Amino acid sequence: MSRIRTEMIDEKITWQDITTGAEIDEPATSLLINTGEWRVMRPRFLEDKCKQCLLCVPFCPDSSIPVKEGRRSDFDFDHCKGCGICVKVCPFDAIDFVKEEK
Ligand code: SF4
Ligand code: SF4
Repeated sequence: MSRIRTEMIDEKITWQDITTGAEIDEPATSLLINTGEWRVMRPRFLEDKCKQCLLCVPFCPDSSIPVKEGRRSDFDFDHCKGCGICVKVCPFDAIDFVKEEK
């Protein structure tokens, strides 16, 4: 053990003496990371069956169902993780679930 380190231990180190470690300098980075690459199943939007009730939208944990002017569009596959919740909640069978092709 180096002399400096030994001396610091003798002096009882406080948290203020410790070098700053990892710092989070901005919230949330998911916009920059394509977490959709984790997906093994893929929801498929069957637009002709969709009634635009938007029930699926608030259930998506990844905000991957874009809505513009009160209408949903196809999934944001950069971020959809294929959890299948939207498939379950759609009352009109307008979303089916297929194996992801890589
Ligand atoms: S829940 Fe089904 S019908 Fe309603 S907006 Fe979503 S996909 Fe369309
Ligand atoms: S499969 Fe899951 S993550 Fe993907 S759009 Fe549906 S609810 Fe969102």
